[in-house]
Amino acid sequence: MSIRINSISCVGCKRCVEACPGNLIKIVDNKAVIKREKDCWGCTSCLKECKAGAIEFFLGADIGGKGSTLSVTEKGDIREWIVIGPDGNKKTITVNTKESNKY
Ligand code: SF4
Ligand code: SF4
Repeated sequence: MSIRINSISCVGCKRCVEACPGNLIKIVDNKAVIKREKDCWGCTSCLKECKAGAIEFFLGADIGGKGSTLSVTEKGDIREWIVIGPDGNKKTITVNTKESNKY
């Protein structure tokens, strides 16, 4: 399993359903649900599309994650990448998308 979907934060927008190249996510009662966790290969396509921060991506030990999770929220031009460590510590990277990718 590479991702976890927080049903409380999910707003049922279906962006993750459309983004998953493996067709692994479905909507049940207006909430996203992963159909076959073991088939998820961690491509992060759904993570990047979820503006509600409802998808948590597990950062593996191979990249120093040690149980940390990564999620994304977006409001207007401001995108926040949120890392929560195994100890509950939260780090936020804020990006103004209007000022990025100019090259
Ligand atoms: S993209 Fe996020 S908010 Fe939208 S349906 Fe998927 S998990 Fe829910
Ligand atoms: S990480 Fe990739 S393969 Fe896994 S559920 Fe999300 S979009 Fe699908």
